[in-house]
Amino acid sequence: MKRYKAKAAMLILILMIIFTGCSKKDEMVTDSTYMLGTYLQINIWTQDAEKGKEIIQQCFQRISDIEKRMSVNIEDSDVSKININAGKASVQVESDTDYVLTKALEYARATDGAFNPAIGKLVALWGIGTEKENVPSDNAIQEALQYVDYHKIDMKDGRNVRLEAEGMRIDLGGIAKGYAADEVAKILSENGIKKAIINLGGNVLVMGSKEENTPWKVGIQNPFEPTGTYMGVVELTDKTVVTSGNYERYFEKNGKRYHHILDPKSGYPAENGIISSTIIADKSIDADALSTGVYVLGLEKGMALIEGLQGVECILINDKSEVFLSSGIKDRFKITNDQFKVVE
Ligand code: AMP
Ligand code: MG
Repeated sequence: MKRYKAKAAMLILILMIIFTGCSKKDEMVTDSTYMLGTYLQINIWTQDAEKGKEIIQQCFQRISDIEKRMSVNIEDSDVSKININAGKASVQVESDTDYVLTKALEYARATDGAFNPAIGKLVALWGIGTEKENVPSDNAIQEALQYVDYHKIDMKDGRNVRLEAEGMRIDLGGIAKGYAADEVAKILSENGIKKAIINLGGNVLVMGSKEENTPWKVGIQNPFEPTGTYMGVVELTDKTVVTSGNYERYFEKNGKRYHHILDPKSGYPAENGIISSTIIADKSIDADALSTGVYVLGLEKGMALIEGLQGVECILINDKSEVFLSSGIKDRFKITNDQFKVVE
């Protein structure tokens, strides 16, 4: 009889532990910082807030390491070393730089050079977003165009990278943020986090869903309004959403806008009607490279490319507020501002 009572008491205790374990709700832990030239915010849901804060710091540390290796503005980054040695020597890079550059070249081929990691010389010439921003002379642009051939990025020799011509410069500004978001997601997963929103300057990755059976709603920036004003929402679970827009970094001269997404064929900011290109995918590195590439390709070629890729969708907006959706996103995207119209 005594044994029976002890067993019953034990059972009740176990049930209580399970019950309180279930009822304790995850709380949101958030932190933000400034890196990669932009505002970064990470929100995670966890039972242990203290540990959660530490995990986010670990993510920021990882982003900082990525920046130190891939920024053109840091003198001893892998990218700077490659650029300084252009036409001279090959440079041994860290494995993550090797990975990002390899992906960048894959997307250069997939977009027929619309996405081009060898764009560095032109980016520097325009200096958009820096104190040196200016409209270069057409001569200077034609000159710079001779140095943007991505076929001359030689990666045949393991982690050794060589630019074949002096004066060439690589730039990973169109892809590195996406890689950073994937790395943050990886760190969060490794730490048991299943629900999170990673926002690296508008490069968004959502983990899990908002509630069971309720997806996250991610706002798409209204390209005509200040940051944080949305033109629509897309419902997603475990996906990334990356937008390239003409409103992100630009200057105006004589009433004309010069933005930071350059067409490697013309040497000028891409101008084909599209002013915002959003890619939805599983991996942020893919979405980031494609957002830039599709922006440059324009509506027809860009849409054809995305329709041909498995698990990748796009939302394109042109300067007439017309919205174009790839076939797999139509039932998950809604316009919230009736200035915009979906064109079927
Ligand atoms: P994003 O905001 O992802 O579209 O990336 C734009 C950044 O990528 C620019 O600030 C440049 O550093 C770089 N970039 C500009 N044009 C291109 C291009 N056609 N291909 C690859 N990177 C580019
Ligand atoms: Mg990009």
